[in-house]
Amino acid sequence: MLSKYTIQRTGFRMKEFITLRHGLPYFSVTKESVVAKGAKGADNLVTEGITTSPVLPVCPCCGGKAYSHGTFTRRLWDLSVLGRRHLLIVTGKRYRCTSCHHMWRQRIDFANPEHNFTFRLGKRMQTTLLNYY
Ligand SMILES: [Zn+2]
Repeated sequence: MLSKYTIQRTGFRMKEFITLRHGLPYFSVTKESVVAKGAKGADNLVTEGITTSPVLPVCPCCGGKAYSHGTFTRRLWDLSVLGRRHLLIVTGKRYRCTSCHHMWRQRIDFANPEHNFTFRLGKRMQTTLLNYY
């Protein structure tokens, strides 16, 4: 359940690899972290993965049988790693009911549903603001 991510830093002569435990429940890394330029020119760390939250195979509306109906992707900011902003690209499954055609998504338990960041980043921001004021 708790996989790790590996960060590659390219130095002058050699490559360095650092493996860190991400510590996010129900998150599994599918692609190793890479450093990518963000929209504002900053180097961001980008990690791709999937949510492994359990899903009941029944419709939450009518109790009918569910079937897998594609995937969705969310981009979430997480705690910074080694001074870089950390972006998670999380893929989850979509489901559809065979009876009433209701559609729903697999939960991302570590994501704030109203914002594009993780709960722990939100908590860190709140703590920082409370200490500042
Ligand atoms: Zn249904």
